[in-house]
Amino acid sequence: MLSRVRHKKIRRKIEKGSAWKLVYKKFEPNDESLREALCTLGNGYFGTRGAATESIASKVHYPGTYISGVYNKTPTHIAGRTIFNDDMVNCPNWLFLTFRIGKEHWLVPSASNILCYHKELDMRNGALNRKVSLQDRKDRKTTIETERIVHMVDPHRAAIKYSIVPENYEGWITIRSALDGTLQNTGVARYRKLNSKHLKTNFSGMLKKNISYLSMKTSHSKIDICQAARVRIFSQGKELKPPVMILAKKKKAIYQEFKIYIHKRRRYEIEKIVAIYTSRDKGVRNALKSAIVSAKEAPTFAALLKTHKEAWHKLWDRFDIQIEGDIFSQKVLRLHTFHLLQTASPHNVDIDAGLPARGLHGEAYRGHVFWDRIYVTPFFDLHYPEISRALFMYRYRRLDQARKYAREHGYKGAMFPWQSASSGEEETQVIHLNPVSNKWGPDYSSIQRHISFDIAYDIWEYWNRTGDFDFFLRYGAEIILSIAQFGSSLVSYDEKDKRYHTYGIMGPDEFHERLPKAKKPGLKDNAYTNVLIAWILFRAQEIMQILPPTYKKRILKKARLSQKEIASWEDIARKIKIIITREGIISQFAGYFKLKELNWQAYSAKYGKIQRIDRILKAEGKSPDDYKVAKQADVLMMFYLFSLQEVESLLHKMGYGFTKNMLKKNFKYYIKRTSHGSTLSKVVHCYITHLLGRSREAWHWFVEVLRSDIYDTQGGTTPEGVHIGVMGGSIDIVLRAFAGLEMTSKGLSIDPDLPKHWRNIRLKFCYRKKLVSLSITRRQLVVSMIKSKSKTFKLPVEIRGRLHYLHSEKKYKINI
Ligand code: BGC
Repeated sequence: MLSRVRHKKIRRKIEKGSAWKLVYKKFEPNDESLREALCTLGNGYFGTRGAATESIASKVHYPGTYISGVYNKTPTHIAGRTIFNDDMVNCPNWLFLTFRIGKEHWLVPSASNILCYHKELDMRNGALNRKVSLQDRKDRKTTIETERIVHMVDPHRAAIKYSIVPENYEGWITIRSALDGTLQNTGVARYRKLNSKHLKTNFSGMLKKNISYLSMKTSHSKIDICQAARVRIFSQGKELKPPVMILAKKKKAIYQEFKIYIHKRRRYEIEKIVAIYTSRDKGVRNALKSAIVSAKEAPTFAALLKTHKEAWHKLWDRFDIQIEGDIFSQKVLRLHTFHLLQTASPHNVDIDAGLPARGLHGEAYRGHVFWDRIYVTPFFDLHYPEISRALFMYRYRRLDQARKYAREHGYKGAMFPWQSASSGEEETQVIHLNPVSNKWGPDYSSIQRHISFDIAYDIWEYWNRTGDFDFFLRYGAEIILSIAQFGSSLVSYDEKDKRYHTYGIMGPDEFHERLPKAKKPGLKDNAYTNVLIAWILFRAQEIMQILPPTYKKRILKKARLSQKEIASWEDIARKIKIIITREGIISQFAGYFKLKELNWQAYSAKYGKIQRIDRILKAEGKSPDDYKVAKQADVLMMFYLFSLQEVESLLHKMGYGFTKNMLKKNFKYYIKRTSHGSTLSKVVHCYITHLLGRSREAWHWFVEVLRSDIYDTQGGTTPEGVHIGVMGGSIDIVLRAFAGLEMTSKGLSIDPDLPKHWRNIRLKFCYRKKLVSLSITRRQLVVSMIKSKSKTFKLPVEIRGRLHYLHSEKKYKINI
């Protein structure tokens, strides 16, 4: 019998190995689109869905390649009007690679007799591998192995190694490789009636050494997207050089074909190395030339794989959160880390792009940028602040556009759009297809003005965590002050109650667009928005104290602000209206309490899944506006962002009372009325239940958060792109709730509270340029500061309420 220690060791080894991989052992056509999204490979510059190399867009497969920041805005005539959509473009499919025996059909594994199937996403090494054994009608068996990477060192390169072993036959085969620009943006069924043609051909062709190329241009944004591929075939350690046939499909795709004779049980390896460049790339004059040169000069697949793996190992060394005692959480947290890093990586430091809510993984929400970053910010701030900073620069570059947007609506300062894409203009669609009724209806979600304050909050938090004063002085303070100015103009004073009010807005709960029977969309006094306005107006006063005079002068001039105006905001902050009942329930907006209650039981009995109760009600000819139903946390959101002390202090300054009990009461009140139609809702409810000390419920929500994408719990949304907010949120919960990290202007504090069955978590984080390593068990916390330039520097950290000073490289063990 195995000794207990050995048994434990073996178990840990198994746990460790499998928690790095997502493995599928059977081909399931109905799950393929979900797996394609989950198996996306990317490097921040571009992402490619994990579609089979042999596939084209069909009911089962959807190959998609999206380049960070590459959008195209086209008009569509629909429902009696012309609308415009700025879509993240599905770029030419560089994956395409297949073969056929003799003159038979081109091989598509999903349409063949599959004897054995194994697909695995290897997160540690950033690779997607697949092994399939197929049998055809003539009983010929072929084993195919593919390895695929999207290079993490050179963001323009990707590579495939495709191996063929004819198990029981020999003969001529033709290998076909393509760069295929015939596809369109058709990944989301709801959008299919909209214009989805984005690519026009420039030219395509072939050069010596098996280099093929394809250059396309987006129809309206006029971005050149250029790809070049080099294909080589090897067997028994030697390169085969068969003649190449070339075929161009109306110049929208280029195909190369190679005919080779294959021998029984011999292995044939095809290496396809691809380079992708666009005319948006910095320092690139001729995107096509760059792509061709890169493909030509690329090393072998093996060499690319080696450097790629090393880059991923370095990233994991910074970002990995190791968990002992819970293999599921470990695996999913890695999956989330993996996809976040593929959406924005160190390469993004040089890219002008925001963080798309659905990653570079699919076309949901057209690749637009929302407020979801608020859930992801701690992840980047604490591990790679340069990425956070780059993402803020996307906003800074669009600050003038936000100023214009504010002016157009009669406001001052900077109002950022709810959905942003290439230009920083409002990209929220004005009509929306309800898949339940199949009818188009108006979409008012753009009036979620909280987005601007969310951005300001992110910047403030970034500054707290990183101490990046340079960013703050040059960009951050200007953005925050400009947003504060917008906040000050969004409110209007009412003599009657001597309070400031907001009108015509919507909170994060998108189900409520207006009060019942109101003519105009928009609500009064959304509590979350109003609290954020008060917060930013108070912060603006603080910023004025912090800014050195020269910067202050420059920023005020640029933002057309005066010290007097800023000083006057304090009065607004103190008098903004928050509706709170005598029992301490915060009203989501004015008039909320008068709405009808929904019979949740009846609806769930009738429809089963009622997360999108808004669509159900609308399809029934009713309106969610009439009911107390919320898509996601709205009032509770303030408790997700601010500590209880902060909420108390804010409300107190605004002249409202606050007791700790209020959180409990509001949670109890709103949870009953929330359908969690957004995955973000689960993150917030997990955090709040943790705050309330309800560990069991918090654990339930945490599992829900983890399950969101890997099991596509919303039923069909993940195949259209992963949920970046929920992915970041899961890590935020581990960092802020379980590890108990808190970073305020006062400093760093750690107060862990691990889930019961987690034996240990280990992580590293970067706090104000100091790298800290942390290991927490149920009994002990071990913390150390890794290398500090100054030997005398001591990092003050409050651990469980006691202040400690960390010296560089010294381990501190604290019993908890
Ligand atoms: C949510 C928004 C979110 C968006 C993009 C919507 O369903 O309601 O809060 O920003 O999805 O993830």
